[in-house]
Amino acid sequence: MSDIIKLLPDHVANQIAAGEVVQRPSSVVKELLENSIDAGATQIQLIIKDAGKTLIQVIDNGKGMSMTDARMAFERHATSKISTADDLFNLQTKGFRGEALASVAAIAQIVVKSKRLEDDLGTLLEIEGSKVTRQEPVVTSPGTMISVRNLFYNVPARRKFLKSDQVELRNITDEFHRVAMVHPEVAISFTHNDTSLFNLIRSTHRQRIVSIMGAKTNEKLVPVEEETELMTIKGYIGKPEFARKTRGLQYFFVNDRFIKHNYLNHAVVSAFEGLLKDKSNPAYFLYLTVPTDSVDINIHPTKTEVKFDDEHSLYAILRASVKHALGQFSVNSIDFQQEKQYEVPYDVAKNNQTQAPKIEVNPDFNPFQQESNSSKSFQTTSYQKPPSQPWEALYTGIEETSQIVDETHQEESTTSIFQQHEVEQRNIFQLQRKFVISTLKSGLLVVNQQRAHERILYEKLLRQLTVQNGVSQQLLFPIKINLPVEEVAVLVNLQEELEHTGFQFKSLENNVVEIEGLPLELKEKDVPAVLEAVIAKEQQDLPENAYSPADRLAQTMAANMSIKTGESLTNEAMQNLVDELFACKEPEITAAGKRIFINLSGDSLNSKFN
Ligand code: ADP
Ligand code: MG
Repeated sequence: MSDIIKLLPDHVANQIAAGEVVQRPSSVVKELLENSIDAGATQIQLIIKDAGKTLIQVIDNGKGMSMTDARMAFERHATSKISTADDLFNLQTKGFRGEALASVAAIAQIVVKSKRLEDDLGTLLEIEGSKVTRQEPVVTSPGTMISVRNLFYNVPARRKFLKSDQVELRNITDEFHRVAMVHPEVAISFTHNDTSLFNLIRSTHRQRIVSIMGAKTNEKLVPVEEETELMTIKGYIGKPEFARKTRGLQYFFVNDRFIKHNYLNHAVVSAFEGLLKDKSNPAYFLYLTVPTDSVDINIHPTKTEVKFDDEHSLYAILRASVKHALGQFSVNSIDFQQEKQYEVPYDVAKNNQTQAPKIEVNPDFNPFQQESNSSKSFQTTSYQKPPSQPWEALYTGIEETSQIVDETHQEESTTSIFQQHEVEQRNIFQLQRKFVISTLKSGLLVVNQQRAHERILYEKLLRQLTVQNGVSQQLLFPIKINLPVEEVAVLVNLQEELEHTGFQFKSLENNVVEIEGLPLELKEKDVPAVLEAVIAKEQQDLPENAYSPADRLAQTMAANMSIKTGESLTNEAMQNLVDELFACKEPEITAAGKRIFINLSGDSLNSKFN
């Protein structure tokens, strides 16, 4: 019998190795991004189609490759990054195994364009299943473009095991975050199915973290800094109230490489002792630097675990620095038992309510009059009083209770603006497409159209949100909007509230929002702007308890759905606007505290002619 052991052909060996290195699209993303960083790129674009199943493309402005190197790059164990075993203990780069590109090339269709700055022409290379199918000179800009199409096209069993687009995109986004967070000096963008998910400019670490995690993050970061012989620590921890149930926001980077480390994680968590609610996980973004020969990152190509020489000392240093940072910013006295505040300008307890200025000429008109039966446990939303204006002379002092005002002026005027409308035809017209002016028996009413509409919508929306009876207009064709993944996540958090206002979502996941029903007052063309505003508001850093989510949502939506200054109104629209305004609970000021109308009495007009 003849001998039976054979060497596997390269493409088979590569395919087996690929199983180790490339488990899913995100593994390719990681390898390509890291190669671009290693190549000294200052600008990187990541372009993905169908969660990486169709296309993964990375374009960088790094040092590029010569024609020979471009070809060599796809050989197994071919690397420019180390040349001796000793180099393994002094790694300055992310890559060193020289097997990523060879592995990817075994299981996908690859196109490379690369050019070094010093060369006139670049190289175009096409590889499919480890075979070079084309190589020729090409005109291209300095740097490297690699596109990886149809991952696992020749390994159906692997392709079948890929998860849903949503899961694979999540994994890719995680890898993107990890690379982007360690390299704020690199401008980096991420596009999925032609939607831009991130476009990050060069910045500091802090700015980078904030632009990835959302503007809300900024105020919650506490800097940590420590320099010892064994380790340098830089970075941020989240204030205790930033802690979450999930472990999402925990990042260790060791020598610019994302790692997971249970023991070091414990060091940080234990520094928070006594400051966290049960089972919540503190956020941290910590950049650790240790001497390259004191850490072994060589455990596994796709694993994020590392082994340190002196873990116990690192534990102690890390714990102490985090404790110190927490102490310095005296964030250790946070009261977790803060009560949730309720909105509602409705049914507000009388003694508790905002004192809005009363109008001298129309004393009967009192929006609060009938409201007195509400429970005391509700607090009013605090409205800003409008700033002092000369025309405030038109109003009586706000100290008096409405009851007294009513009595003192009973004789002078007995009809409210409302009632007056019923008895006589108002003259109404628009001024500068901004004000609605109406004649009253006693003078002139000047209404700011945008603010009036905002107030009307705000109260409607808030009512729907608290009573939960929003009416929807069904759309013939659903609206589809692409938004960054994390913005869609904001909407998911608000989904219930949005539905109370009349929104109906067909889907709300990944980066796609599909809407089949809208609040009655919302015009289709205004939908993107309204959603954008709602998201922006949520991402803003607000004093946590100033407004409840429902109140915030109602305010933001109202402000964005309202008639704007510059819109011309029909007579009927103006009549309705005024009627609806005075049917509001608080017609004088917008939710943001801006004055909505003024009333020029005959008397005050008279005084002007003196
Ligand atoms: P490793 O990164 O471990 O060296 P890879 O297979 O990822 O192995 O890459 C092989 C080689 O190809 C690298 O050592 C590098 O010389 C070259 N290379 C890969 N990507 C790029 C790039 N974007 N720009 C310049 N050179 C690159
Ligand atoms: Mg590499």
